[in-house]
Amino acid sequence: MKVEVINTGTELLLGEILNTNFQYLSRQLNKLGFDVLYQTTVGDNAGRLKDVFKTALERADIVITTGGLGPTRGDITKEVLCETLNLGTYLDLDTWNRINNYFCKRGLCMSGNNEKQAMVPIGAQVLTNEVGTAPGLAVTQGDKLIVLLPGPPSEMQHVYEKQLEPYLINHFAKQGVIYSHIIRLRGIGESAVAEKLDDIITSQTNPTIAIYARRGEIIIRLTAKCMELNEAKTLIAAMEALVNQRLSRYIYGTDDETLASYLGRELLRTGSTIAFAESCTGGLASSLITDVPGSSEYLLGSAVTYSNMAKHKLINVSQENLDTYGAVSEPVARQMAEGVRALFGTTYGVGITGIAGPGGATRDKPVGLVYMAVADDKGTVCDKHIFGGSRTDNKMRSALTAISMVIDRIKETENTDK
Ligand code: AMP
Ligand code: MG
Repeated sequence: MKVEVINTGTELLLGEILNTNFQYLSRQLNKLGFDVLYQTTVGDNAGRLKDVFKTALERADIVITTGGLGPTRGDITKEVLCETLNLGTYLDLDTWNRINNYFCKRGLCMSGNNEKQAMVPIGAQVLTNEVGTAPGLAVTQGDKLIVLLPGPPSEMQHVYEKQLEPYLINHFAKQGVIYSHIIRLRGIGESAVAEKLDDIITSQTNPTIAIYARRGEIIIRLTAKCMELNEAKTLIAAMEALVNQRLSRYIYGTDDETLASYLGRELLRTGSTIAFAESCTGGLASSLITDVPGSSEYLLGSAVTYSNMAKHKLINVSQENLDTYGAVSEPVARQMAEGVRALFGTTYGVGITGIAGPGGATRDKPVGLVYMAVADDKGTVCDKHIFGGSRTDNKMRSALTAISMVIDRIKETENTDK
């Protein structure tokens, strides 16, 4: 079943509010196996809304609108639909009573223009709204279904959950399920992943495969559509096995796992502890680590050493290095890692120092330049990166890359110990 969602409201087109109604509806409808193939946003304009209705009815089996069911003249969705389909309306007494009660319960009087909300297109089914005044409506026209839902998100969700979802389940044969599975990779770029999976990508049907880079990692999303969940899982497992064969050394987790939770697992597995000295990340790396329940087992402490004074006094970075090389330099990153490791007595110490931007760049040191070092009992390693994104991006990429660097260090140590 092809679905088009129409979201009405000039405020959506102006970018004043985010179209959360579409996100909600499309998630729910996809879960039920409906194919949401089109989404149109249209302002509160009768002519354009009518055109949008006509187009939607040509290409979709089910058309669902949100918004424009209020009591004012600007609320025109129902009226425009009736005009488009040539439908008469009648005053629905049940709905009128419910709206009247809604006001009485709040000690208010129903005003004349609310009566408009009790007008129902002939043949339509009322989808009762228990949390607001405008009811939803379901109208069938030949083999098409048109559903009108109220605009306020809480009302829209209420009517969907209590009325529309049961209606859809009752009226349409089971649409099947859409099931997605995520594979997470690190230490490899998006194009290299795409190259290794090229034949799978070109021949994809069901499951489909999508690759994208996000926050210091590469994500492969496999999505299958089947009648039963088990079938979908079997199809996905087969494709996952193919992906594993080619990329297993880069895969660190699936679904909700994060780089921080993976590092946590590795630290626990090797009985290790960690501490961070953070300058440009301002504590973000430690924050990501502590997002993982149980992180107190391995994160013993961290220091946000933002100023030179803090770097020197708290974790023993030498004044000479700060003066000679500057705070954003390899010698300082190394001393930060070593100093914080000594301060907390951990297996690993991590130092991160860089220029988050947008200011602070010099001729030799551009925005996004970050040095990060990891110290352990075998010595200290240091990497230099130039991220060059926004301040928020640079902080996040620095924190995630530092976390990834510790994972590399653990693996390397294991390999050389073998
Ligand atoms: P309406 O019934 O169109 O007057 O919408 C009432 C209110 O609901 C609007 O002023 C918005 O605050 C909110 N709203 C309407 N449509 C949406 C949407 N698509 N996503 C999020 N909020 C919405
Ligand atoms: Mg509106």
